Formats: sequence, structure tokens, C-alpha cells
Amino acid sequence: MPVAEENYKICNWKDNKSAAVVLTFDDWTPGHPAIVVPQLQKRGMVGTFNIITSTVKDWAPLREAAKAGNEMANHTATHPYVNSSSLYQKEVFDAKNKIEKEIGSPVFTFAYPFGAFYDSLIVCLKKSGHIAARGVYAPSSDESYSFYFLGKDYYNTYAYGMKTETTIDEFVSQIENVVKNGGLLTYLYHSVYNGKVKDFSYAWVLDSDFSLQLDTLASYKDKVWITTYADAIKYHKEAVCAQLFETRSAYYAKRIFVLKDTLDNKVYDQPLTIILNVGNIKTYGVSQNSVNLPFKYISDSEIQFEAVPDSGEILIDQGM
Ligand SMILES: [Zn+2]
Repeated sequence: MPVAEENYKICNWKDNKSAAVVLTFDDWTPGHPAIVVPQLQKRGMVGTFNIITSTVKDWAPLREAAKAGNEMANHTATHPYVNSSSLYQKEVFDAKNKIEKEIGSPVFTFAYPFGAFYDSLIVCLKKSGHIAARGVYAPSSDESYSFYFLGKDYYNTYAYGMKTETTIDEFVSQIENVVKNGGLLTYLYHSVYNGKVKDFSYAWVLDSDFSLQLDTLASYKDKVWITTYADAIKYHKEAVCAQLFETRSAYYAKRIFVLKDTLDNKVYDQPLTIILNVGNIKTYGVSQNSVNLPFKYISDSEIQFEAVPDSGEILIDQGM
């Protein structure tokens, strides 16, 4: 039986945060391994790096960045306008396979070179297993939770382009805006430059400005989920379709639920944060597939925990 809507909530974002923030870095320029990866790691943050496969000479630093939790995403083989189906094999399929082979994990998302997208390219992206694609359009002023309706479904999501002259106030106003509206904020960076690392091509950002931006973003950690583009998209897609069902009572004081979504379980494995009204009966434990899950009371009658959709029974233990 579906759990009545007033008795539970699938949180819009992980840990019931107000919004999600994603940092994306295009073209894997020299400042990315030298400055960006260590600066993120220092703060316990992750980002998404959009890779042009033909320009990578050494894959070891990318492997290392991926191991630290960063996403390696597809930005084609040679960065052309992907405006002809004759380019799809090389620029979409082969580039994706190359990154997967070198990194050793699946590629889920795509970034359009020059932000240029086409309907037939979107069909190709879906066919090749990309779940979303980042565009370069600036976010609308009401960056809401239904952001994906505004573009081409999830295949042209907004990005706020960082420039050399972007001020910290402009940077912060984007965060304030997304916290207010509940959606997904994606920053788009190109080069990050520090005087030693020769990386001051298009829209370079000085490393001291970059540090300040990351520290400022970190100060919003209670309000925003800072994650990769792929994980934000997975969470969002799951959360908008998932539903909680109560199946049966195994025995006294054990309640059993399943969380279902309509998506491919091989890809969509992000745990969703759930708030469940358990009434005034004390809850002693929550588990999924017999694995204990952390949970906490957020009010006298509500508990909060995380569970993966279609991943086995969720047992709420209210026994002695
Ligand atoms: Zn690019």
C-alpha cells in the first residue's frame, strides 16, 4: 500500500538541504590537476570535470581525481560543434568509452562544446547512456526545483559561467538565489591560474579568487548539497518519481516498506533522504536489506534516513 502523502516525504535533496550546488570544470586545463583538485579535496568537496579525450596526454591525474570522488564527464574527443550525425560515433560514443576505459568507471553526463545542442544529438546522448547534459545558458532568475522542465528535459541544464572579473558578491548571489528557490545551481569554470601554472586561457580565474569562492560556498554547507553533476541529476530524477509503500508487518512492532522508482537500477543508485512519520511509537533501528542504516529523530514523531530505491525492504524496528 502506498504510504499516505502526509505521512512521509522524499526530500528534494540529500540530507533535506534546500538546494544542490555543482562545480563543473571544462577542458581539463593545467590548473585543474594542479590547483582545482587539491583545493576541492582540502575542503572535502567534489566537482565534475568535462574531458576532451584527444587533449589528455597523461590519464594518471584524472584517475586520481576520480578516486577522490570527482566525476569525469564527456566533453567529446576533439571539441567540435557536434552538429552532424557523422560525428556521433567518434565524439560521443568513442569519447565516452575512452574515458570509461582509462578511468575504470562509467561516464554518465555530457557537456556541449560551445554549449551547442541539437535535437538529434540529444537522441544520441540518450542512446549512448548519458543521463543529462550541461549547457551554457545562464540560470533563470527563478531557479526552481523543476529546472529540468525549462530546458530540453535534463539535456540542456543551466550553468553560471565564471569569469576572471566575477565578484564574490555575484558568486554569492547565485547561492542565495538557489537556496531561496530550491533548485540546482551549476557553476561553469574554465582555467584556474596561479602565476606558476600556465593556465590563463578563456575566462581564467585567479587561484586566490577561486579559494575565496570555495570557502564561501563551504559556509553554506548546511543549506546546500555540494556534489557532482551526475549525482545531483540522479538524485533529482529518482526523487521526482519515487514512492514509498508499506508492504506488510513481519511481526509485532516491525514495519516493512519498499521505496520504488521507475528508473534503471543499474544507473540510478543514489540514496534518497526520507522523512517518515512514525507516530509516538519509539523507533529503535532502520535497515535496508538487513543492513543497518543511520537514522535520526527530527521531531517527536518523525525520523529521517536514507535508502536506495528498488534496493530491498526497509525495516523500521519499533520493538523492544
Ligand atoms: Zn569546452
